Amino acid sequence: MKYKFVMLPVFIASFCLTACSNENSETLQEASRVNFFAMDTYMTFSAYGNEAEQVLAQAQEEMERLEHEWSVTDESSEIYRINHSEGEAVTISSETAQILKFAFDMAEKTDGALDPTIYPILTAWGFTTEENRIPEKEELDSLLENVGYEQAELNRNQIQLPKGMELDLGAIGKGYAGDIVTKLLEKEGITSALLDIGGNIQAIGSRPDGSEWRLGLRNPFGEGEIGMLLVSDQAVVTSGNYERYFIGEDGKQYGHIIDPKTGYPVDNELASVTIIAQEGKVGDALSTAMFVMGLKNAETYWKTYQDFEMIAITNDGEIYLTQGIEDQFTLSSTFSNMELHIITAN
Ligand code: AMP
Ligand code: MG
Repeated sequence: MKYKFVMLPVFIASFCLTACSNENSETLQEASRVNFFAMDTYMTFSAYGNEAEQVLAQAQEEMERLEHEWSVTDESSEIYRINHSEGEAVTISSETAQILKFAFDMAEKTDGALDPTIYPILTAWGFTTEENRIPEKEELDSLLENVGYEQAELNRNQIQLPKGMELDLGAIGKGYAGDIVTKLLEKEGITSALLDIGGNIQAIGSRPDGSEWRLGLRNPFGEGEIGMLLVSDQAVVTSGNYERYFIGEDGKQYGHIIDPKTGYPVDNELASVTIIAQEGKVGDALSTAMFVMGLKNAETYWKTYQDFEMIAITNDGEIYLTQGIEDQFTLSSTFSNMELHIITAN
């Protein structure tokens, strides 16, 4: 049985960015831009400066190279090779070893809320084939035996997975690749650029006139932006089950972010979590993990580390902001009835 598969287009976020950043168009130089589809999403990179056009072409090429290396479906990718190793040790590039090390470290740090070995569960729900189904609990329980990042052994450039285990970098790959592209742009002398990676934003420097980038924060309940964020040199990454979901035969909505403890799509009080971090990889890992953890545990996690900022929107329409982002966020007038709470360190 086929269910309707929904993947909301990411144009809304991109459009807002363009619209917002063009606000003072007379005073700003013209941006060079590339638009392309990679890693299962639309990407728009904009940059300023004389060399921008040629550097952006390099950036696109780099993104496509990384997609090729880390895709779960591309038969020549390193991840595909690992996933089809039948329990044998596999030698991988140091670049892949590094992203896997980051993925496992974050899995440990988030107590398994983020788990890069979730792929067999995603497949059972049909998120990998777009033919969605609701698996039986017994099926999920049996698949969960093959889920658990602790069972993967990574030693330098060698990885060994138990038979039946499969990796998926869907929750961190775009942010991680965004960091690599950011470094490339900076190395080529670009000081003002925005990478829109499927609605997740990585800002390089500030706008050419020195002011901060103005980013719209997507409404997880429908059209429009809930508010506006001012950022420079930061990554802004959002996770939510509204981004990709299907409606089951039982009329319930099932989203693409899975709780690795149960094998079921996350169903807590959160509609979306946005992380503002220095690095895209951290923003990407944490937005997924905090969404899985739920509001209370996400608050506790933030209080422990405090090296990122967070905007959590609940299904009841309340917004929770960590204290460090308060001055950079403005609620849109259309959403001024939403209750705002500030999460403080103590
Ligand atoms: P994101 O949009 O960054 O939150 O990533 C969601 C994607 O990560 C999903 O489409 C899956 O491919 C994968 N995924 C889902 N749940 C998890 C999880 N708990 N840990 C790691 N990856 C996950
Ligand atoms: Mg993520």
